Amino acid sequence: RQRSTSFSTSSALRGYCCIGRLVDMVVVRGSGSYVWNDKNEKFLDFATGIGVTGTGHCHPKVVKAIQDQAANMIHAQVNISYHDRMLELMGKMLPIMPSVGGAGGGGASPLDSFFFWNSGAEAVEAAVKLARHATQRPNVIVFRGGYHGRTMGTMAMTTSKYIYRAGFGPLMPSVNVAPFPYCAHCRLPKESGAECCLAPLEDLELMLKQECHPSEVAAMVIEPVQGEGGYVPAPASYLRGLRALCDKHGILLVADEVQSGVARTGRMWAVEHAGIVPDVLVFAKGIASGMPLSGFATRAELSATQPAGSMGGTYAGNIISCAAACATLDVIQEEGLVANAKARGDQLSSGLKDIAAKLQSLNGGKAIVRDVRGPGLMVGLELTAAPGSGAATRLSKACLKRGMILLTTSTFETVRFIPALNISAKEMDEGLGIFSDAMHEVFG
Ligand code: PMP
Repeated sequence: RQRSTSFSTSSALRGYCCIGRLVDMVVVRGSGSYVWNDKNEKFLDFATGIGVTGTGHCHPKVVKAIQDQAANMIHAQVNISYHDRMLELMGKMLPIMPSVGGAGGGGASPLDSFFFWNSGAEAVEAAVKLARHATQRPNVIVFRGGYHGRTMGTMAMTTSKYIYRAGFGPLMPSVNVAPFPYCAHCRLPKESGAECCLAPLEDLELMLKQECHPSEVAAMVIEPVQGEGGYVPAPASYLRGLRALCDKHGILLVADEVQSGVARTGRMWAVEHAGIVPDVLVFAKGIASGMPLSGFATRAELSATQPAGSMGGTYAGNIISCAAACATLDVIQEEGLVANAKARGDQLSSGLKDIAAKLQSLNGGKAIVRDVRGPGLMVGLELTAAPGSGAATRLSKACLKRGMILLTTSTFETVRFIPALNISAKEMDEGLGIFSDAMHEVFG
């Protein structure tokens, strides 16, 4: 049955227009991989609140942890005292942080010191503060197409779309933007045999010679898989090159795993695919299944450089959010969700490639899909349609009409698949079926 595609909203919401949204629909309930709107229409949720409800909507163990904690204590302030749920969470995170030569329970991770905040942007800004103070250097290098948030500082670090920056300047100074290896748009001739991801690395080295002297660079901040920039994974050799470059110049490597972390890519952290350990790893979104919580892990010797009182915040590391995060990590472990993200991710990627191949043959051999990419359940499908043509939005709306929430991303025409980490094979097939029908409607 087709879902409604237009919804009437109250005039009180008019001032809310600066929040871009996929559809003016009112959702009222969520369970597992599904959400319901106020007309009791059911939707398969392939957006999970932008990669947040990794354990599915309202996982019973997460709900119980939140309810129990709310009955016991709702607010404890980190600048006043420790609280037990935060200590418990640190204990659970320590063994799953990345370590050299294989991570997630491998050797002990050097990332043994944790700070918590509310949002991803807040944690990224705090990571920049830590890097500046620890190195006593001013500059930050970020990567084209990256997204780090909408706050004053992170806005200057974000280049995925101009809408996040234009008109809000002057921006935070001392931010340099380096190229990001976007393989689907690689300009190197394939026959050259050159490893293309090394070209942006060479550009970066040139940047350190021409634009910003390494002795003035505090940190490089990179998403191991770009999220808002189009679900573009950085090749492992590129990330290894960055690690070596940072080591050479005493620059801190900050991995923004706000979207790619917490089992999303079929490993606990996306940096594990490259076998590198950043100096700071920022997490948020999936860590607490929907309760607001962010944070970073770093080495104790780096956190020790920060003056007491320079970090914190009224709600930073809220006790209920920490309880939800503890339950989330338990569910991920008990239900094998790292492995499920990999298995369902393989099912998803190969299903999407089949759909693309079928449409291409129906389309006289002309490709409609440029690229299907991304590890685990962080998969982007980029269309060949011209950027700005609106093809990805049409596709997303065609999915919505059929009862599936699917988001677009990037300035290139791309849709992104971020279902719950505990999605079943049957639910994945349902999603692939809906997506195939939507593709035929829009491009068939
Ligand atoms: N970094 C990355 C990689 C993100 O994807 C996001 C959110 N999309 C942020 C930072 C900002 O997080 P928040 O919206 O919680 O501030």
